[in-house]
Amino acid sequence: LSAVEVATAHLDRIDAVEGKVHAFLHVDRDGALKAAKDVDDARAKGETTGPLAGVPIAVKDVITTKGVPTTAGSKILEGWRPPYDATIMTRMREAGLVMLGKTNMDEFAMGSSTEYSAYGPTYNPWDTTRIPGGSGGGSAAAVAAYEAPLAIGTDTGGSIRQPAAVTGTVGAKPTYGGTSRYGLVAFSSSLDTPGPCARTVEDAALLHAIIGGHDPRDSTSIPQPVPDVVAAARLGATGDLSGVRLGLVKEFAGDGAEPGVAAAYRESVDALVKLGAEVVEVSCPSFKFALPAYYLIAPSECSSNLARFDGVRFGLRSGDDGKHSLEEVMQLTREEGFGAEVKRRIILGTYALSAGYYDAYYGQAQKVRTLISRDFAQAFEKADVLVAPTTPFVAFPLGSRTSDPYQMYLADLYTIPSNLYGGPAISVPAGLSEGLPVGLQIMAPTMADDRMYRVAAALE
Ligand code: GLN
Repeated sequence: LSAVEVATAHLDRIDAVEGKVHAFLHVDRDGALKAAKDVDDARAKGETTGPLAGVPIAVKDVITTKGVPTTAGSKILEGWRPPYDATIMTRMREAGLVMLGKTNMDEFAMGSSTEYSAYGPTYNPWDTTRIPGGSGGGSAAAVAAYEAPLAIGTDTGGSIRQPAAVTGTVGAKPTYGGTSRYGLVAFSSSLDTPGPCARTVEDAALLHAIIGGHDPRDSTSIPQPVPDVVAAARLGATGDLSGVRLGLVKEFAGDGAEPGVAAAYRESVDALVKLGAEVVEVSCPSFKFALPAYYLIAPSECSSNLARFDGVRFGLRSGDDGKHSLEEVMQLTREEGFGAEVKRRIILGTYALSAGYYDAYYGQAQKVRTLISRDFAQAFEKADVLVAPTTPFVAFPLGSRTSDPYQMYLADLYTIPSNLYGGPAISVPAGLSEGLPVGLQIMAPTMADDRMYRVAAALE
């Protein structure tokens, strides 16, 4: 098969199912066919191409793509065509990956269901009355619906792993700083981490290896090579986990997972034990404060990052009729351009950071973050990886959690600790509950991304 044939087949698939799934905000047919032709031409000339050359990919709309619309799911960025590529985008193009288009997401990556997109929700391909997870529901749904074999997501509090879990796909959050943030529309800079979405663990590892590694343009990028995640995935696929210690977090047991999810989780742990893994119990008492700490830190950082959307520099400008002052133009633009959840976070964050409240809220949340990292460090003395369900519940019906923000935030119960710590974590399919997919989450120490790929591949 030529790369052009592969791209065409996926573009046709998109045409056939998008009416039901709505995974994409923008399909770049011409760009994809041109990139595919470049790969075919290089091959015809006998040039060597990498393992993913000619493979189509869908990219979350929070990643800047040169000349291709990038909205981050927000009205405020409607019509913006970035003048540059994100570092991970440059690396994917150089590797010959063929970008099909940009995927739907909760506005500025804030949400767990993709219902907070300004452009309408994405529908879960397993059951289109249900959510595909969020914020990266478009990327996960595109992979699950065979519109793309690979996709890019970003994980700040679970937005790669939770959508993977509820769509029966694989999603990995690399070590924070292991993949570059340069060219990401920033949400919470101390947490934002781009990573791979795929249908198999090995595919995710191949993509991780291409996008990962040091980037001098990102000051928090780790100046070390990515661990050999591809070799680790292949080792895991042999099905031998002897000597691997799985840590079960005591505080997560019986804590909020619905019965079907808890049952699928126990079965997947049993399956890993049959492959030779050993189970140890670990205690992480600070994990119960992870959700409240995250919902102070993430909104605080977002209130600062989103200050740049002022109606002057990017996208939307409201009230630009000569009758309004500059300040009024900024106010009107932000009033019209941001959705309700984004406004809620900006207000929360601005409040938490205001003089006099800093110590009580943001300062306190940072202390909790330190305690969570200590819990992880102690747990990893006894265990090689920690395992948990990815999310407490299967894909919920559209509209069922939008009226109560707390119910939406609960989707992140198990994913947030590893974001606050910074270590890698992956979600792999772990069976079904009531006919809907459940995910197993595997968390590893920082820069030990290879460990989680090994265990994840063994479960497949
Ligand atoms: N659901 C979380 C939030 O709303 C996670 C977001 C993310 O990882 N981008 O903040």
